[in-house]
Order: sequence, then C-alpha cells, then structure tokens
Amino acid sequence: MAVAVPGAATPKKQKGRPGSGIPARLSIRILVWVRRVSQAGFLGLFLYFLFQTGFRGSFASAETAVRLPLPVEGFLLADPFVAAMTLLSTHTIYRGLVWSIGLLALTLVVGRVFCGWICPFGTLHHFFGWIFPSRYLRGNKRVESNKTAPGRQRVKYYLLYAFLAASLMGSVIGGLFDPICVAVRAIGLAVIPAVQYVTGVASTLSGATGMRPVQGAADSAQDFLAQTVWQSKQFYFHHTWFIGILFVAILFMNRIIPRFWCRVLCPLGAFLGVFARFALFGMEKDHAKCTDCNLCLVNCQGADSPQGGVKWRQDECHMCMNCENACPEDVIKFKFLPNRKSALTVPDTGRRTAIATAAAGAVMIPAARIADVIDANYDHKVIRPPGSVEEREFLERCIRCAECMKVCPNNALHPAFFEAGIEGIWTPILIPRIGYCEHSCVLCGQVCPTGAIQKITEEQKMGIGQKPVSIGTAFYDQGRCLPWGMATPCIVCEEFCPTSPKAIWVEEVDIPKRLPIAGDNGKEPEMTTVHVQRPHVDPSLCIGCGACEKVCPVQDKPAVYVTNVGESRSKTNVILLEDTNYNRPG
Ligand code: SF4
Ligand code: SF4
Ligand code: SF4
Repeated sequence: MAVAVPGAATPKKQKGRPGSGIPARLSIRILVWVRRVSQAGFLGLFLYFLFQTGFRGSFASAETAVRLPLPVEGFLLADPFVAAMTLLSTHTIYRGLVWSIGLLALTLVVGRVFCGWICPFGTLHHFFGWIFPSRYLRGNKRVESNKTAPGRQRVKYYLLYAFLAASLMGSVIGGLFDPICVAVRAIGLAVIPAVQYVTGVASTLSGATGMRPVQGAADSAQDFLAQTVWQSKQFYFHHTWFIGILFVAILFMNRIIPRFWCRVLCPLGAFLGVFARFALFGMEKDHAKCTDCNLCLVNCQGADSPQGGVKWRQDECHMCMNCENACPEDVIKFKFLPNRKSALTVPDTGRRTAIATAAAGAVMIPAARIADVIDANYDHKVIRPPGSVEEREFLERCIRCAECMKVCPNNALHPAFFEAGIEGIWTPILIPRIGYCEHSCVLCGQVCPTGAIQKITEEQKMGIGQKPVSIGTAFYDQGRCLPWGMATPCIVCEEFCPTSPKAIWVEEVDIPKRLPIAGDNGKEPEMTTVHVQRPHVDPSLCIGCGACEKVCPVQDKPAVYVTNVGESRSKTNVILLEDTNYNRPG
C-alpha cells in the first residue's frame, strides 16, 4: 500500500505512468540509457573482435611477422571464471588473465554489473528476448517468469562448484559453459560459417539471374563481407552442427524463461554472484510504498526479487536498474552503502548439494581419464596446434574458447568431439584433410588466452637456427600411393612439403606397368615400363604440418597421412622409445 508521509513534498506524477506515477530519478533514467548504450557497444566490440579473428593477408608476400593488430581475445582475458579455473588447475595466473582482477574489483564495488552492462552473451539473450518476445509471456505469466525461482537458479552455482573442483583435479572443462567461450565457439564456428554459406549460395543464384545490377550488388556485398566479417574462402568446422543447435536452443529458451542462460546455467554469472555479496552498491526498498503493480518484475532481467514485501537477491541482480526505472511508487532505490535489511547477499545453495556437486566435478576427471589414457597412446589423430604444451598440461589450460580454430587461416583447427576423450571435447585438433598448418604461421598461439598454445615465434616454428616445432609425422600407405601401388607418376606431396630441406624425398625407379587396354583377341594387356618417383618421409625432418595429406590426389582416404607421433611437446609419443621394456637387455 502507498503510504503518505506527512510533511513530505508530493512528487509530480509523470503523465501516462500507472499508480502514483512518480517518475524515476533522472540519474536512473540516464543510467538505464547509458546501460543500453554500453550493452550495444560491448556486443559490437565483441563481434568486431570476432570478425577480426582471422588473417586476410598472404603468407607468401608477408615480409614482416604475421600478427593480428588487435587483442581479439580481450574478453577472455578479462574473464575471472577462466582465470579462477586456470589458477586452480595450473597454480599460476597466465599473463594476460590478470585483467580479470579488474572485473572482480568492479564486482566488489557495483555487483554483477558485468552481466547487465558488459557481457556480450548476456546482451545477446537480452536482445533476443526483446526482439522475439513470446506470445505466452505476457501479463501475469511474464511476472511469474521473472520471479526468483530458487530451484532452477541454483543450478548455475552447482555447475560452478563442479567446474572449479574439476579444475582442481587438472581439467578446465568448465570452459564448455563459460559464456564468452560459448559465444566465440558458437558464433565463430557455427553462425558465421553458416551465414557465409547462405550468402555464397545467394550470390551464386543471383549470378544465374543474368541481371547485371543484381550480380554487381551481390558481388560487392560478398567482397565487403569477405573483408570485414569472414575470410574469402568458405570455412567448415568438424561437427559444428552440434555447437550451432545448442546455441539456437539456448537462445530460444529465452522465450520460456527470460535470460534463461544467465539465470540458470552461467557459471561466470554464479562466480560474480559469489563476489557480489561484498558490493558497496546495492538496492534499498521502501516496502510500505509497494502497491503490487509488479512493473519492476515485468522488467527485471535477473529474477532477483526487486518487488516490495520480499528480500532482494543481491547475487542474482544484473544491475540493469530496470526495476527502479519502472517503479511508479518510489519503492526501489539503488545507492552506495544501502541498508541491507531487505537484501539476501549469499547465494541460496544447500551445503550438502554444493559439496555433492563439487565432489561429482572432482570425481568426473579421474573417471574420464580411466576411459582414455592421455599420457601415452591417446588417439593418433589428436594432432594439437604447434606450440601446444604437453597433453596433460594442455587439458589444464585449454578452455575450449575456439579462438585458435577461428583464427587459423587454413581452416586446419577443429573442435574435437570424442577424439581426445570426454575430457577433450571441443579442444582443438588439426584435421589435415580439411586444412594443413601453414609453415610460417603462429597465429593460434598468439590468440590463445591461457597458454595452452604457447606464443612461439616464426623462427621457433620453422626451426631457424634451432630444431623446428613438430606436431606429428607423415606416413605413406604404399598400397594407395600412386607411384608405389599403381605405377602412376605423382609428386604432389613432395612439391608441397614446406620444410627445407624437404622431409619428403623421392626415389627414382623404372617399374613395370600393364597398359590400360586389353591385348589383341582378348589377351592380357601388354606390359610397359614407366619411370616414377616413389616418395619417402624422413621422420627427422617431418614436422607433421599435413600439407602432403591435404593435397594428396587420392580421394577418400589419402595415401599419405599424418599422426601425432613425434610431436615436439611429448617425450613419450615418439616413433621408437629409447628406453622400453622390450629392448632392455636381459
Ligand atoms: S549471467 Fe553469464 S551470460 Fe549472463 S550476463 Fe552474466 S556473465 Fe553474461
Ligand atoms: S594451426 Fe598452423 S596454420 Fe593454423 S593458426 Fe596454428 S600455426 Fe597457423
Ligand atoms: S588452445 Fe584454442 S581453444 Fe584452447 S584455450 Fe587456447 S585458443 Fe582456446
């Protein structure tokens, strides 16, 4: 009920506002607009960085070192959940991740302002819910959907506890749910290639119309997009349909529960929620003035109970300030050092369930490891990017953000499905048949925010004055190789081998070959002699870049293929162990 305060000046009713119609403070109205601009700006910046995570030049003509001019991984460097996971798994903070301390400090002052003002993934959900509102989420249903639902809102805390415990056991698998990683992975590996594909088809169709202006417009649009959004060639990513479907499903959940991801699943939101309890800025309510108009609830982003008569959930609030802006009764006030009488600051999670989920997260990692031996003999096709640290440390660091896959100019890096075991899902693997590792490229190491791929130089990579970085070794399937198995000349692999001296060398031989036409009167075809160059690999020079596998003209299964044996990062994944049980004397 609205209660008149004797002696107080009656605030002027704002035209069109319901109830008492008291206008929100000017500072709050301005702040809500600043927040909207901030959301649009950070989402724009995030997308700009993502579009710039690619190389549009040429390696052949590059005279200076190839580097991206922008810190495209900046959002990940400022992500405190990523920093916390890698700190627990490696016991160190990787260089750039110190930026995340700034975000934590901000949370300690103004609560989860990141969620309401900065987070590009949160903004995407906010915009989606606004642009595609559900017909069923109106009136009371909208109010109900925005009330705090403790059962489901706790889920994100349990995920947080489980992922932090998993990190302590040496796996930053929580990157699967980190919102920045999800956004880079889904937009970079699924949305952008899909849109590129569709525009490519549209451009081809426009060419078929025979109408010059249509063709010209389509070509100009393609050129512009190739310079600004994607690279000129179409990129494909292994099993990316799954990443895309999950992304669309999460977006559509906004039609059932607004900001579903943020309220229910986001471990970064939960992490910030834990720290928000100490925030100096918060909400104060005058419960007596509330008339239950529920306008605050209609507009609430965080489902943090802004309405009168109940306690505000500080850890759930996104600091969007929509509630104070909407309230026509002057119930809600955001201020520094508010009285905490009507606030709950600590996350609402049961202790036993929290311990159980943390234990589950910790147990999951050894359970995954007994299914896949990662110290030796893991899947031979798990070829990691050049500069990657040793496999166990790699899993301690790789947050599956997909920056490396997005930047790879040759479309060589792809998200693993189960090739690297359950623990390695969506970590980068090189699939040479789709793209090989460019000899002088070190871009994946440049953008990796956690040091899973080290920032090596071109000299280190190519082995100028030192041993080159190897990611595997090539092998021949002589039964499929044209000169070896089919007496047919071919030296494509040797020509493309980029090392100097070449790791592929050829043996000149004259060999018998049957002519491809039957002899007279149905006799066996005549024999002839052909000169071929049979390729061989020198394992001491091969760096496993996969150029030979990529260009091998034998379709389906190539005659030359790369496995990860001989990779520089491992002392045990070698062709022949120097010290094994079987070659020890006696
Ligand atoms: S809850 Fe997560 S996804 Fe949502 S705004 Fe916050 S950090 Fe971003
Ligand atoms: S895998 Fe090779 S080509 Fe791809 S980004 Fe890394 S270094 Fe460059
Ligand atoms: S290796 Fe790739 S996916 Fe993993 S953290 Fe580095 S950039 Fe991200």
